[in-house]
Amino acid sequence: MDESNWKEMESKYYMHAANRYPMVIEKGLGTKLWDINGNVYLDFTSGWAVNNIGHSNEVVANAIEEQSRKLLQTSNVFYTIPQLKLAEILVENSVLDKIFICNSGAEANEGAIKLARKWGKLNKNGAHKILTAFNSFHGRTISTLAATGQPKYHETFMPVTEGFDYFEINDIDSLSEKIDDDIVAIMIEVVQGEGGVNICSEEFIKYIRKICDEQNIIMIIDEVQTGIGRLGTLYGYENFDVEPDVITLAKGLGAGVPIGALLAKDEFSVFVPGDHGSTFGGNALTSAAAYASTKFILENDIPGNTIKLGSYFMNKLNELKSKFEIISEVRGMGLLIAIEFSTDIAADLINECNPNGLLVNAVKPNAIRFMPPLTVSEDEIDEAIRILEKSLDTVLSKK
Ligand SMILES: *Cc1c(COP(=O)(O)O)cnc(C)c1O
Repeated sequence: MDESNWKEMESKYYMHAANRYPMVIEKGLGTKLWDINGNVYLDFTSGWAVNNIGHSNEVVANAIEEQSRKLLQTSNVFYTIPQLKLAEILVENSVLDKIFICNSGAEANEGAIKLARKWGKLNKNGAHKILTAFNSFHGRTISTLAATGQPKYHETFMPVTEGFDYFEINDIDSLSEKIDDDIVAIMIEVVQGEGGVNICSEEFIKYIRKICDEQNIIMIIDEVQTGIGRLGTLYGYENFDVEPDVITLAKGLGAGVPIGALLAKDEFSVFVPGDHGSTFGGNALTSAAAYASTKFILENDIPGNTIKLGSYFMNKLNELKSKFEIISEVRGMGLLIAIEFSTDIAADLINECNPNGLLVNAVKPNAIRFMPPLTVSEDEIDEAIRILEKSLDTVLSKK
């Protein structure tokens, strides 16, 4: 089939697991993407909060090119330097002690679940239950689906892994009534990303820390979306004045290459040979890319830019809110931001924004989410606001 028939090719050959917008993306640079017709877009989705230092970052491209000519992959029975350098930079800049590197967010969370269960066997009379939040998102495998507190995702695939129960974020009673001796871990996103950019209060996160200390429970923070600069700090937990026992990373870690990681304090790093593994986990290529990206983020104070541009963007969105009654809320932290509407206009709005040159995500029927690269500029934010305003005008005039 001729590749110009991309729609037909997709429907003939690809499982219909995603609804796609009618555009073929060909290349990216910084905050911009180009389609095969030469149209240019401001990318405020970043491949789902992945391209944290923009598309085709020179430093990462060079690291990938250099590493690809030396070594892509060897098994984990040998040492490789890129893997060790990545381990060092991530651990040294965190409150955690040990790392296991894998390939995705779901895989990182699977690892965290296994680690918690093993620790419970060794140290808490076989306690194995894990509490997670309603509206959380932890992945698409059978166990991380079970961990995801959104029953609509479970129904088609029952039975999912047992041993999970759910609480409401920012509701201490809803959590405390679920605590019993079978609970081995509480897993939480400090800001729920896929759930709609729902921000946990510092009080709530500190309460989780307290109950975990009192009840001998592992505090796992899923930083797959909030980690690596997104909230204006290398790790999201830094905004909440707590030290987690375990964190998971993925999305922004590799600047676009598939990689995930699980970090834990020594006390909880209970895997021994045979417990866990991953053929591709920590391979030389993706480790070199993630190391170059993380180094770039730290050396160029990308978290600082995130705080500055995040508040600039929030101010502009709040100005828009005062102009448009239909905007009911602007919320966010760093450059993970959402605006909510009083009616379900997100899909219509995106159908205007995309062709107007701004890519954003409908995170709920009545909310859109912004997660631009953390290297975004003020000018690009101004342009995004202009496109958003124009697109909103069009949608509202059609109502
Ligand atoms: C995206 C996401 C995941 C799943 O990551 P995958 O790489 O898609 O498996 C897990 N947790 C959170 C918080 C996420 O945002």
